[in-house]
Order: sequence, then structure tokens, then C-alpha cells
Amino acid sequence: MHPLSDPKSQSFLPVSEQSDFPLQNIPFGVIERPDELFVCASRIGDTALDLNALQQLGYFDDLELPEGLFGQEALNEFISLGRPVWRAVRSRIAELYAAGSDLEDKSKQRAEIEWPIAEVEAVLPVFIGDYTDFYASREHATNVGSMFRDPANALLPNWLHLPVGYHGRSSTIVESGVNIRRPNGQSKGPNDPAPVFGPSIKVDFELEMAFITGDGPTGETPIPVERAEEYIFGLALLNDWSARDVQQWEYVPLGPFLAKNFATSISPWIVTLDALAPFRADRPNQEDPSPLPYLQQDPKGANVDVHLEVSIAPQGHPETVVCQSNFKHMYWSMAQQLAHHTINGCLINAGDCMGSGTISGPEKGSFGSMLEITWNGKEPVTLSDGSQRGFIEDHDTVIMRGYCKKDGLRIGFGEVSATLLPALSWNPASTSKN
Ligand code: MN
Repeated sequence: MHPLSDPKSQSFLPVSEQSDFPLQNIPFGVIERPDELFVCASRIGDTALDLNALQQLGYFDDLELPEGLFGQEALNEFISLGRPVWRAVRSRIAELYAAGSDLEDKSKQRAEIEWPIAEVEAVLPVFIGDYTDFYASREHATNVGSMFRDPANALLPNWLHLPVGYHGRSSTIVESGVNIRRPNGQSKGPNDPAPVFGPSIKVDFELEMAFITGDGPTGETPIPVERAEEYIFGLALLNDWSARDVQQWEYVPLGPFLAKNFATSISPWIVTLDALAPFRADRPNQEDPSPLPYLQQDPKGANVDVHLEVSIAPQGHPETVVCQSNFKHMYWSMAQQLAHHTINGCLINAGDCMGSGTISGPEKGSFGSMLEITWNGKEPVTLSDGSQRGFIEDHDTVIMRGYCKKDGLRIGFGEVSATLLPALSWNPASTSKN
């Protein structure tokens, strides 16, 4: 049996029970090695695997990959080759690293391929050309609609008919570990006579998952919902940082703008849909109302059961879990999002990033943003050091984790973590000099 089809198969590399990266995962990423060389990589347990070294040693020869495919700072060229190639490479890596393989005893070769995770930097794995963020959790949209508008009509009339989304900025998507700056901006509270400018006082996280696309069909062909997953390279954790005070003032009538595009953090290992296959879950029912035919999809296995959690760690203090949610709650599936996105002729390219929107579950403990958890700051949460939070404070670190677990098999995403730094003091006079 192929090691990827056997949930019991093991690697000869050490993998702890709590690891997100057993032999059955084989995610893709990019690492910076200690010699400052950037290469495409995979990961088993706490060992990064240099795919460029594997290619140079001849292990992918029969796959006829382009020369230098993995000696790059991004996965885009690999992603462009399409799903049959993603599958062949992932399958080969698992064969090579299964216990008892020929590679196990080749210590000289292995020294060229394997890097302890602590000695490398996992960087932004993809050059992200376009970034779209959806709003696909019914619970989240209902909560935000209740707070920002009207609890009686929380969902706007279009929401149950199409996956609402907006185009974000890829320029400020950063990998886990990169610090985030509290943004300056304009806001106007309900009692302020005029808008004010200054540091946002309601910086928030949004617990999301993202999928990275392959190249879409060329020409004017939309992606049909039943084939959409062929164009999904893999998934990562996403923190779509948000400034709620800026958002509430600016979003009318065209939607999110500067409240969202100051930073978005992404986890560095892209987990393939194939690795997530054992953890598929049914999508919520869409019979009232039924969507238009181009969005109709069998709900069976349309979502993925990913346990998600968010922690806040104040500077010098341990973290406190403030949210536990699940990706399976999404009302609109990834396939429906991609079908909708391309139905008008919009093209997608290898390395585009599609955020799910905040993933909130039905109860308070499963809300995926501080906006919802504290109900716009009115009901602060108490952290384990005794301090309280309405929103995120300077020097807080926000950590998101996600994993699937079933029948003893755990496949996960690692984490996306970032620390919020104080706002820049913005002085117009200083920007015109030199
Ligand atoms: Mn978002």
C-alpha cells in the first residue's frame, strides 16, 4: 500500500504524537537555509526537506520537472504545473521518507536534504498576485450585521444567494512571525461631531483559512463548482488583521478598505486538499433559499473539519485561548467561492490567495474575532495574567493554530503568529524632507 493511503504508515524521521506534520501530510513551503539560500521545501515532524536537493539528487527525474523548479523563492512555478504534478511530487516525497525506504540509510544524501526546522526560516511560500477575502460564515455575518446595523435584519438580502467577498491587497500579506504595526487611520464614533485621525483603538484579528489557487482555465471559461477543487493547491491559516473603528466609518458603501489592508498574516506550510481528504465534512444546508444553479453543490463532504483556535499572549506572559472554532461551519464552501469568483470571466492565477472570511461557530466561545467575542468591546475577556482585553493591545502576540484529527491521524497547519507593535507617530513634516 502506498504510504499516503495508509493512515498507519510512519516515516523514519521522528514525528511526535502532537505533530501536525506526519508522513501523511507532506505540505509545501519555502525555507531560507542557514546559508541564506531560499528553496522550496516540505516538512515531516520537525525536519524541513529541501526539494531542490531532492531534485538535484535525481529523485524526481522520471517526473520530468523543469530544471531548477525548486531552487526558487516561491512555489508559483510548481503550482502552475497543475494538480497531477502536485500529486506526483507529494507521493514521491512520502515514498522516499516512509520507514524502510532506500533513502533511510543514505546518510550523506540525507545531510543535503534535511534541515532541523529550528535552523531554517519558513518564509512566505508563494508570490501572491491577487488576494480576495470572502465573508462566508453565516454566524460571523449575522453577528457583525447585528452590531453594525440591525439585529432584526442582520444578513443583507444578497447574503444567502452568493458568497460575498472583496478584493484585498496582496502587498501586505506576511508570513507568520513578522510583526504587525498598529495602523493610523480615520474614525468617527457615534458621538463624535467630526472624524478624527490617529492610531486605531480597535485592532482585531480575524480567524480565517485561506486557499491558494493554481492557474485557472485560460480564456473566458468559468470554473464549474464541481471541478473547482482541481484548481485549489492547498490551504493555510490566515489572520486577516482588522481595525474595527476605521472599518465602521469607512466601509459604506464600497466595503473594507484601509481597515483591512495594513496587514494579513499567513501560516507558511500549504497543506494540500489530498492530505485533508480523510477529514471532509458536510456543508450546512442551503435549501432556504436554494442558490442559483451555477452555485449548487452536493453538501456531502464539501467542507473540511479543521479544529481552530486563537490565543492571545501579552508580552512576557503565557497565552490564553480566546476562541475555539471549526472550518466546517462555513456556509459557502471553497468550491462555491471559486465558482462564483470566476463566473463573470475573472481570471485566477497560480498563487492567488482566497480568504474564507472570519470563521465563527454558533456559540460565544467559537467566535472568530474580538469584535464578536467581546461584542464590540462591551464584554472584555480576562486573560490568564488577570488583564482584560476588548481588542488587541500593543505588544500582544496573537497565535492561531489548526489541525484535523480522526482515528489517530493528525494533520495540521502549524501556526500563524504575529505581535502587534505600537503605531508610528505620524508627522507630515518629516515625510517631505530628504
Ligand atoms: Mn476577513
